[in-house]
Amino acid sequence: CGIFGVVGVQDASTFVALGLHALQHRGQEAGGIVSHDPDHGFNQARRFGYVRDNFTSQKIMETLPGPIAIGHVRYSTSGSKGQTAIRDVQPFFGEFSMGGAAIAHNGNITNANALRRELIERGSIFQSSSDSECIIHLMARSMGRSIPDRMEEALRKVEGAFSVVAMTRTKLIGVRDPLGVRPLVLGKIGDGWALSSETCALDIIGAEFVREIRPGEMVVINGSGVQSHFPFRPQPSRFCIFEHVYFSRPDSILGGRSVYETRENIGRELAKESPVDADLVCPVPDSGTPAAIGYSLQSGIPYAMGIIRNQYMGRTFIEPTEQIRNMGVRLKLNVNRALIKDKRVILVDDSVVRGTTSRKIKEMILDAGAREVHFRIASPPTAWPCFYGVDTPQREKLLAATMSEDEMCRHLAVDSLKFISLDGLYRAVGEAQGRNAECPQYCDACFSGEYPVEPADMLEQGFEM
Ligand code: 5GP
Ligand code: SF4
Ligand code: MG
Repeated sequence: CGIFGVVGVQDASTFVALGLHALQHRGQEAGGIVSHDPDHGFNQARRFGYVRDNFTSQKIMETLPGPIAIGHVRYSTSGSKGQTAIRDVQPFFGEFSMGGAAIAHNGNITNANALRRELIERGSIFQSSSDSECIIHLMARSMGRSIPDRMEEALRKVEGAFSVVAMTRTKLIGVRDPLGVRPLVLGKIGDGWALSSETCALDIIGAEFVREIRPGEMVVINGSGVQSHFPFRPQPSRFCIFEHVYFSRPDSILGGRSVYETRENIGRELAKESPVDADLVCPVPDSGTPAAIGYSLQSGIPYAMGIIRNQYMGRTFIEPTEQIRNMGVRLKLNVNRALIKDKRVILVDDSVVRGTTSRKIKEMILDAGAREVHFRIASPPTAWPCFYGVDTPQREKLLAATMSEDEMCRHLAVDSLKFISLDGLYRAVGEAQGRNAECPQYCDACFSGEYPVEPADMLEQGFEM
């Protein structure tokens, strides 16, 4: 998901709408905005679909006045069951004795089921099926005297991955979990401030990127500036390495590094690790593009757009049902036949999950008359589900959970298939010595099976680590 908030500007909600539009790649099912204005109190709007189709109409934006607002773009992850209901769309809002507050959460709470059971037993009335709603109820139960105090107390009970943007009538609040699994950045706009999942959304509103919120940090922002504190027990950070590979936008800065350059580095590493003689390097658009450019630069094999993407389709993976996903690939991608015919083609993609995309693309490329098809993948085999806010299917559906690289190659019936090594990926994100096996610098659980936070809910449901 994507989260965004601003305080200290006129018509804050229009800035939030723009910010969410720049974060649309992080969630496309639905979006919501909450704002506050001294004359009108809190207001909210939640809608299915794209930001641009909802939060551009004057009719809606007029209902969201005020100098402070937060918003959320949603895609449902492992915990959620099936289709999103409008009541699952964030931000969530609560009234407390000291006033109202709204929260928007990116990540996944790994002990949400246990918390929910306990809260319901003690009288909480849940409105949604979302794990994030626990935070509001924990805040309601807290005896803390201010909303930031209550949030702090609530979040100390929550396990897993959370970047949170919250607001009261006057304060904008940002928090990252102690491992810093999901991103969150701080920006300055005029006399006001912004919090965003990614820097690309600061760019769109003309805000200056100030810094990242640190793992385990909570910032409380009001008229007099930014107060920072660290309410959790400090731990070595474990940022999601897959944000670098796929999830974040290539024009964002993560951990002081350009995502685009990191992806190009991944392509270079791949070319060093797994060279192959061929005529063309083609990306599987759009997520494979920077890595394909890196592969081409490193190998000297020409880069070409052998597959053309229809710009009006969303990301296939994020479509929640298998049937839609299956159609998705063909609706979205088409082979540039004139270019591909009689060529030996290297296809570069960011990841193989179920193998649906790769299989379809291989068929399309062979239909178009390619002589050879070689896959190069910009991440290690995805053999484990993510429980921290990226939607991967159950383990059984992951191709790499049951097959070796060679078996996957035969299964997909391609001339070769190579994934970047885990160490190669770490080198590409700037860890010259590769992965520190004792204490990995990132979360890489979907590749290694080493989960930095025990996925309590999933273990309870019979998941085996
Ligand atoms: P598959 O078709 O193998 O199931 O999925 C892999 C494709 O899904 C890749 O092309 C990748 O770009 C895309 N994708 C979209 N969202 C995600 C995500 O959240 N995780 C992963 N691993 N891949 C995703
Ligand atoms: Fe990121 Fe994978 Fe860890 Fe999930 S399991 S947080 S996708 S690295
Ligand atoms: Mg892709």
